[in-house]
Order: sequence, then C-alpha cells, then structure tokens
Amino acid sequence: MDASPSNCEPKADYLLSDCPEGCLEGVKDAITPSNSPTTLNIFLTHHHADHTAGLDEVLEWAASRETLDVKVRTHANCPVSTTLPSSLDIESIVTHGHTEDHKCFYAPALNTLVSGDALFSMGCGRVFTGDMDAAYEGLQNLKAQVADDALVLCSHEYTASNGAFCLSLGEEFWGKDWAAVRERVEDVTKLRAQNLPTIGTSFKQEKLWNPFLRVDRAEFERIRKLKDSF
Ligand SMILES: [Zn+2]
Repeated sequence: MDASPSNCEPKADYLLSDCPEGCLEGVKDAITPSNSPTTLNIFLTHHHADHTAGLDEVLEWAASRETLDVKVRTHANCPVSTTLPSSLDIESIVTHGHTEDHKCFYAPALNTLVSGDALFSMGCGRVFTGDMDAAYEGLQNLKAQVADDALVLCSHEYTASNGAFCLSLGEEFWGKDWAAVRERVEDVTKLRAQNLPTIGTSFKQEKLWNPFLRVDRAEFERIRKLKDSF
C-alpha cells in the first residue's frame, strides 16, 4: 500500500504485512521505481514460515536498489506505536496465543487491521502455545482498540471451514443472530464457488459472526477445543 504524503518532500512509504514465499513478485509490482527516497516497511505478525519465508529474497532484491530503505518490524521487536516517515501511525496489538509473541497491526488512519493468524473471518488461530489466557486476552485487546468500521485483513482463507464450525454451534449459541450467521455462511459458499475471497470484512461484522469474539474466557476455551477437533 502506498501511503506517500502529498508534501513537497518526495517520500514514499510502502507497507508489507508478512512475507510469504514468493511475495517478492508482488513487492516488485507494487513499488514504483523512483529516484526519491523510498521506504519499504515490512511488519511481521509472527515467525511461522508461511509468513516469513519470502523475507530473505525481498531483502536481497531491496539491497540492490539504492534509494530503497527497508525497515523490518517484527512481532518481537515492534513497539506499541510506530510512526512511518509519511507520518502514518501503525499500532501493534498484542495477540499472543497462536505463538508466544504474535502481534496484529492496526493503522487507524487507514482504518485497517492486519490480524495475521490471531483472528480469521468467523474464526481465530489455533492456540499452538496452549496459553488460552493469552489467546483470549489478545482478542479482548482487539475489541478494546479496533474501530467497528475497520477493515479486517487476515492471513488465510479459512472462512468456509470456519463457517461450517459456526453452524455446528447451533441456534442456541447464536440466539437472535442465528439467521445472520446462516446468511453469512450462504454468502461465503457462493463466493468460494466462484473462487472469490471472503476476506476484507469489517470488525463490526466479525463481532457479529465470529464466535470467538462473542464469548467469555471459559466459553472461549470450550469452543476453541471443539474447533481443534472439528
Ligand atoms: Zn501462524
């Protein structure tokens, strides 16, 4: 994403969130060749290979471009708030549990949350650490900080299987929102049949149809364990 400011000092920031194998091609397509100082800010949500395996290739390519400065901000070293050269603020939100140091990244000015593997559409990431307290707290952190109308960009297209799990929880779990959840699952089925993405929802929508954002701590653990064997 190009967040270059319209001031007289030529400067452009590009944001890349996570760096899977083969992501260099997308980076090359996005970055317009320029003689002006340009920054590529790479934010890594966590260390898993499907989020980081393309990093070395991107760094190697970037090193050959004199005006391109690369900043890698990882889940482990990213401060609470980072202000990019274009004055865009990126907040990091602690969402441990999937890994012991997973972070989500939130740009209020762009109204966008990059949720990595902490939050998916209609679901959440597997708690590989076993730390259910941390996983639950992470989702509460998102609820405390992210605006309802923020765009949620997660890392995987798992919505169809997540939706099937949502239906398996039954009408009693969803109460008055049961019809809305069923409608979402129908929409997801149609989108996937056309090979279209289901990702790019609002946080408000996720608060409606994502079971993991609707439950208390005890219920979170119960349904997370159910999902593990679903
Ligand atoms: Zn992961």
